[in-house]
Amino acid sequence: MTIIDGKTMAQKVREDTQQRTAALKKKGVTPCLAVVLVGEDPSSLSYVTGKEKALAEVGIDSRDIRLTANTTEEVILSLIARLNADKGVHGILVQLPLPRHIRESVVIDAIAPKKDVDGFHPISVGNMVLGKKGFLPCTPNGIVYMLKEIERKLAFSLSGAHAVIVGRSNIVGRPLGILLSQKSVNATITICHTGTRNLSEMTLQADILIAAAGKPALITGDMVKNGAVVIDVGVNRVSVPTAKKGYRLCGDVDFDSTAKKASFITPVPGGVGPMTIAMLLRNVVDAAEMGT
Ligand code: NAD
Repeated sequence: MTIIDGKTMAQKVREDTQQRTAALKKKGVTPCLAVVLVGEDPSSLSYVTGKEKALAEVGIDSRDIRLTANTTEEVILSLIARLNADKGVHGILVQLPLPRHIRESVVIDAIAPKKDVDGFHPISVGNMVLGKKGFLPCTPNGIVYMLKEIERKLAFSLSGAHAVIVGRSNIVGRPLGILLSQKSVNATITICHTGTRNLSEMTLQADILIAAAGKPALITGDMVKNGAVVIDVGVNRVSVPTAKKGYRLCGDVDFDSTAKKASFITPVPGGVGPMTIAMLLRNVVDAAEMGT
């Protein structure tokens, strides 16, 4: 069994974006991402901080916009309109989830598609489904990158492999299914969700098993086929009163029992997370190269 080191894999993408950023700066363009955080959800705050640190490390500017939890939808929409028109801003990221009184889809729809570096706008989604050029969502794109790297380095073929995805969200499971079924990857896809009758009957068929349900240790070793590649997308906070922060992070996969069956497995943290951030950096540089 090999642990897939997402940090090392992400480093290669980061170095590439750093070089592209330096080249843009020579032409007088500094890539810039506007990062909008509404409210004080601790997980969102830590994601935003991590993203801004990564942006700074490769030389991309970030415009940090923090709004209180009671900000109205109208205020957010007028902010997005200003950012859309701002020639110094190449990408716009609105950290999700938003407070309940704000309609996420209305906010996402308001972002100019050419600045939609999260790849959540309906135009970006449509382009992805049709296999056209456009921004790809960072987590699914990072997972495809990881799987291609494993395929490149090792005796493993994505073409014809059966990928079972647990989770059908608009940001992970569903777009991942679309990307993996495209001709360039050529996998056969099963998407499982809360309506799936017998989850382990499905997961046991997987050559590639991707867990994106947001349920700690949902996948255990007895649900995994010998030699499967296991990608754990889940990031769950489990309360541990004795831990320094009062919690620890764990994935959707029970690592110890699953590692005994898998050929490759991603850890949490240090697996999919760093790849998600690397793909965001890449999308911002793509946006800056296209111009505003
Ligand atoms: P979500 O809650 O929007 O969707 C979860 C999906 O899992 C749903 O479609 C649901 O049908 C399915 N599901 C839930 N329980 C299930 C069960 N018992 N059996 C079968 N299916 C079940 O979540 P999301 O936004 O897709 O995120 C999923 C997880 O991935 C979360 O832990 C999240 O924190 C994490 N995440 C990580 C990254 C990263 O970069 N590492 C990025 C995005 C999300």
